[in-house]
Amino acid sequence: MNKYLFSVKTFFVLAIVLLCSMQTKAQKKYTEKDLAALKQTLMQTVAGKSKEVQVMVDQIFSFAELGFQEVETSKYITSVLTKNGFTVENGISNVPTAWMAKWGSGSPVIALGSDVDCIPKASQKPGVAYKAPIVEGAPGHGEGHNSGQAVIIYAAIAMKELMEREKLPGTILIWPGIAEELVGTKAWYVRDGYFKNVDACIFTHVSGDFNSSYGDNGGNGLVSVRFDFEGEAAHAAGQPWRAKSALDAVELMNVGWNFKREHLKPTNRSHYVIVDGGDQPNVVPSKASVWYYFRERTYEDIKMNYESGIKIAEGAAMMTNTKVTHQMLGTAWPGHFNKPLAEAMYANIKKVGMPTWDEKDIALAKGVQALVEAPKKDQQGNPIDGLKNTIDSLKGSVAFSWGGGSDDIADISWNLPTIVLRYPANIPGTKGHHWADAIAMATPIAHKGSLVGAEATAMTLLDLFTKPSLVADAKKYFKEVQTKETQYIPFITKDDPPAIHLNKEIQGAYRSQLEKFYYDPSKFGTYLEQLGVTYPTVKKP
Ligand SMILES: [Zn+2]
Repeated sequence: MNKYLFSVKTFFVLAIVLLCSMQTKAQKKYTEKDLAALKQTLMQTVAGKSKEVQVMVDQIFSFAELGFQEVETSKYITSVLTKNGFTVENGISNVPTAWMAKWGSGSPVIALGSDVDCIPKASQKPGVAYKAPIVEGAPGHGEGHNSGQAVIIYAAIAMKELMEREKLPGTILIWPGIAEELVGTKAWYVRDGYFKNVDACIFTHVSGDFNSSYGDNGGNGLVSVRFDFEGEAAHAAGQPWRAKSALDAVELMNVGWNFKREHLKPTNRSHYVIVDGGDQPNVVPSKASVWYYFRERTYEDIKMNYESGIKIAEGAAMMTNTKVTHQMLGTAWPGHFNKPLAEAMYANIKKVGMPTWDEKDIALAKGVQALVEAPKKDQQGNPIDGLKNTIDSLKGSVAFSWGGGSDDIADISWNLPTIVLRYPANIPGTKGHHWADAIAMATPIAHKGSLVGAEATAMTLLDLFTKPSLVADAKKYFKEVQTKETQYIPFITKDDPPAIHLNKEIQGAYRSQLEKFYYDPSKFGTYLEQLGVTYPTVKKP
């Protein structure tokens, strides 16, 4: 009996000792001076990884994969993460190219994300300021999504090294924005619970600026919907009166929607492509499809336009005696971002500062700006001339916006405290979604911009892992300000599948040609070197 009592006593004593030691570990307090020193160390660790950053930026650029087809990209990134001690779950949300990587244990749990997909018909040699596709007609990184994973991964690896040394508890998650151009996955990740126990999320996106922001960012949300019409074929000359043209229905739907535009708010953005208009003129198309993006500033207005679109499609089907069905291919909420996190990130951005651009970087930037006939000023009235050297002030909620683009990071930002770091890896004044936006993206401009992005991200990770008050403040803002009156209602149902069939044919048509140009870092210092590009080549020889 005595023996039993002793062991119970021992058990409690041990348990108390263990609990106390866990608490001291979790509550390890750092003074501002300690943190400043640790940030300095972190910045040096990240700066020491500039070669790795360049290799990753160039490697992903060379894969040039469209949304849902990021096969090589994901294989490569996850192998880097596995080598660095992360465990990887592949195929999350039933998306073959999606994954979630994890390192560490306990709280806080901080997620880092960035997009990886590219743009159709944007193939372009880097460092060359005139049209010079690597593979004519092929996809290319005409937005710069090839750079963001290097930003978060090398920030995370530097932070991981520091956490091991300092014995800091916490978990780092890394995930890719698969098919961002199709706003095709983030709402699905949220629906499937991948962000359920995450305390905060840092997302990074390429830009000409170095900044973050909080509140309503002025962007639009959207639904991406394909309408499929089905009629009946007939000889288009012999007996056209016996046909029911699905193409007529598509055209009438577009006419209907274009009349509707007059009665939409000026903040609306809607656009479509006819993805199937029939096979040949002498066969009345029995099938035809049109794919719409309906964008607006609020959930309610997006929903209203979506419902109007369905009604107009049904009207077109009625007029042509055809049938119509529709499928949701993607969705994004309007963006709203976290104030305490943005303030923490901004303070670190200011510590890091803009990259040091040299005359070659500036010459390329000016060459590209001349090529795309860039406006003299941006929408805020700041001059566009070469590369930026200053950091703008931290911006809060916009008072008014005419609307614009979308990013499905908003579906995450409406579920947990989230910010977007915009890092200066591309040239200001370009058009976006264009081959000219790829020119800087495997050059020193992208390498330097991604490196400063990684430094600011690493320092913000340090803030999150050492200051429990920051995580608490971020959650407080999320609960008491952001979601006080607006609650997230997903546009997708629990059954909507991700549209993983998209881009399969296009990527398939170009993959073997692109393969010849995949970057081989074992043979070449940089991708510019592999392609034999003199940096910069501003004028056509
Ligand atoms: Zn993007």
